[in-house]
Amino acid sequence: MELSLHEIISFLNTQFPLQHQESWDNSGLLVDTHRPIRKALICVDCTEAVVDEAVTEGANLIVSHHPLMLSGIKRMVDSDRTTRILKKLIRNNIALYAAHTNLDAAKNGINDYLASALNLSKVSVLQPLRQQLFKIAVFVPESNAEQVRNALFQKGCGNIGNYDCCSFNLNGYGTFRANEEANPYVGEKGKIHQEKEVRVETIVERGNLKKAVEEMIKVHPYEEVAYDIYPLENELTTIGIGRIGILPKLMNEDEFLKYVQQHLSVKYLRFSNISNRSIGKVAVVGGSGSSMILDAIQQGADAIVTGDIKYHTFVDFGDEIFIVDVGHFESEKISIQIFYDVFSKKFPNFAISISKNGVNPVNYL
Ligand SMILES: [Zn+2]
Repeated sequence: MELSLHEIISFLNTQFPLQHQESWDNSGLLVDTHRPIRKALICVDCTEAVVDEAVTEGANLIVSHHPLMLSGIKRMVDSDRTTRILKKLIRNNIALYAAHTNLDAAKNGINDYLASALNLSKVSVLQPLRQQLFKIAVFVPESNAEQVRNALFQKGCGNIGNYDCCSFNLNGYGTFRANEEANPYVGEKGKIHQEKEVRVETIVERGNLKKAVEEMIKVHPYEEVAYDIYPLENELTTIGIGRIGILPKLMNEDEFLKYVQQHLSVKYLRFSNISNRSIGKVAVVGGSGSSMILDAIQQGADAIVTGDIKYHTFVDFGDEIFIVDVGHFESEKISIQIFYDVFSKKFPNFAISISKNGVNPVNYL
């Protein structure tokens, strides 16, 4: 079974919306091929070995967690590893797609997986996304208000927590004067007209804003639609980096370490000093979570489970919170399974395989 690259990318973008990636990230389609996709290979990092594997396996799409290019390419020379990989991809007509911090942040993404693997309850997002929500306010004749409202709802507006179709409606009247070029729905050219209108206001996520406004304009009866779009400071509480929740029971530090090892299937842990704390509330952050330690402390976490903790971070925060470093790869290897599961559910007859060469680049003795 072949799929178009566009179909696959559109699907992945609905699962892990690109607008939810961090500003420094580079998720999305990284190498385009404009060819039908016959097989996808999934990995954490797109290395030369993974590209070789794709060639051997006949896969012409690689889906990785980490983007191959993150900091920009200044030159294409063979002494540069990224260049070599890109050339190999292009030469072999292999497309490359990455879902990085948008996969971390997503509902049922890496952080949700970590929380559920540790059986955390009352789970909330450690650092909810900001600058993702907008308010649309549109002025509609009374008799058309419902039609416009419903069009907005159908395009994803009005969702707040467990409620949908949320809006506020204020009756008033609008004034306008049409010039000679106009073709007014109501009123006469050259005369100031008053019309009973409703100010319909509703909330919308960044990803739905454009299509919602387009649809609103389509169903609105006026020639010129008056509307406002406001960026909101409200947090998108269901999506973001890290999760925080409650363990099934209180544990001492030793018990917690064994619990983490067992539930995340990791052999080696690095951790801050044992000081007879009891661990009940736990923060989890896939990948490098050092920058989230303060959030975890402020939200009352007894422990944080993440990767890539530096020596000085242990020194600075180890007394305030029990830091458990499970390793970067170990905390994110589940990304492979998440990709595999979403692909096989949506496209059950499409060939996907998990890279055998996408191994942890860090070894332990
Ligand atoms: Zn990572």
